[in-house]
Amino acid sequence: MKQPIPQEFDTPTYRDVLSQFDAAAEWFCLDTNIWKRLRLPQRALCVTMPIRMDNGDVHVFQGFRVQHDSSLGPTKGGVRYHPGVNLGEVAALAMNMTWKCALVGLPYGGAKGGIGCNPKSMSRRELQRLTRRYTAEIFPLIGPDHDIPAPDVGTNEQVMAWMMDTYSQQRGYAVPGVVTGKPICIGGSLGREEATGRGVVYVAIEAMKHLGISIEGATAAVQGFGNVGSIAARFLSETGIKVIGVSDSTCGIYNSRGLDIQDVIAYKKDRHTLEGYPDGEMISNEELLELECTILVPSALSGQITEDNAGRLRCRMVVEGANNPTTREGDEVLKEMGIFVVPDILANSGGVIVSYFEWVQDLQKYFWKEREINERLQEIIITAFNRVIRFSVSENIVMRRASMSIAIKRLADAHLARGLYP
Ligand code: GLU
Repeated sequence: MKQPIPQEFDTPTYRDVLSQFDAAAEWFCLDTNIWKRLRLPQRALCVTMPIRMDNGDVHVFQGFRVQHDSSLGPTKGGVRYHPGVNLGEVAALAMNMTWKCALVGLPYGGAKGGIGCNPKSMSRRELQRLTRRYTAEIFPLIGPDHDIPAPDVGTNEQVMAWMMDTYSQQRGYAVPGVVTGKPICIGGSLGREEATGRGVVYVAIEAMKHLGISIEGATAAVQGFGNVGSIAARFLSETGIKVIGVSDSTCGIYNSRGLDIQDVIAYKKDRHTLEGYPDGEMISNEELLELECTILVPSALSGQITEDNAGRLRCRMVVEGANNPTTREGDEVLKEMGIFVVPDILANSGGVIVSYFEWVQDLQKYFWKEREINERLQEIIITAFNRVIRFSVSENIVMRRASMSIAIKRLADAHLARGLYP
């Protein structure tokens, strides 16, 4: 497909996600009309928000909400607060959500939102004002049947609570189903907070079974110590896998004997950084990626494994906890090296799977037990994993290509059945 990318979306992340799609679509012989349609988002809203900062100044922030494709149902995806957020990145991540939901069989299309801001340097009151104003600005686009935001990098259940409240105040009654990843007391789901990390570990274990690697003696390195990384590290170590390295945005820590993850979590909670952790050696984020280990879990930001560093990786498999952590070129290197990659749209889908459960519970006003939630998550993600493995083996293609093809097939069927309007 030789169509140029419109200037407003043309960023490295968009080019990356699009080139993965183009390659899969070409391999799949996707209908050209559907291919053209899916290369661009359906809707994109840019908003600006003047916010009174605690020092009295007014700062104008920029935010976005992008809905990539709504052929399978309401659109779904997180809201990211990060200084690097831009329209192209949000559009790319929205597209990624479309593939993710289609792959695991959820009745959703993909969306993403974001605000260019540094939440770490803002007070709680500033964050609340920003969140409420952002919600008011994107109000026409969201709703339980329309588009359902959730947490992503830099946001959490408190941000979701403010979004839910702002939306509900406008409607005049409580609308819990407008966002997922909320606190339990206002309609959140048990198990949602751990869901992404839990899903990462379920697929890592399935991948080990597939490759004939036993848990005994297996090691892991986890990049990113937020909601995904810290929980994945905890479940990995509870499973008996030795977590030898973890990192956050400030630094990494390494211990060849294995880190005590509960202790690391407590340290990070206390000091908000891993720096100075006593029971490990300080390493850089780059060094962490290059540690010799069985499983590498990049669960921080996009574009971490590139053509520059991919050749130095010494892991047996990469399980992508973050969205789009590997660039297209980096991916080619991993392929040549024979490193087994469980792609983001499969590996980190646990979050949106339990978001789906949360939404269903909100709509039904009937809440499930945690055990039920974890069992259903495990069933959906392992079924998806096995479908991808079977396809990848039968077609002799890597996991990313197989995952994308399964997702594309589901979307192509929906687009063909629905046809064009008008
Ligand atoms: N932000 C998460 C993701 O990228 C979760 C999205 C959701 O739950 O809607 O998958």
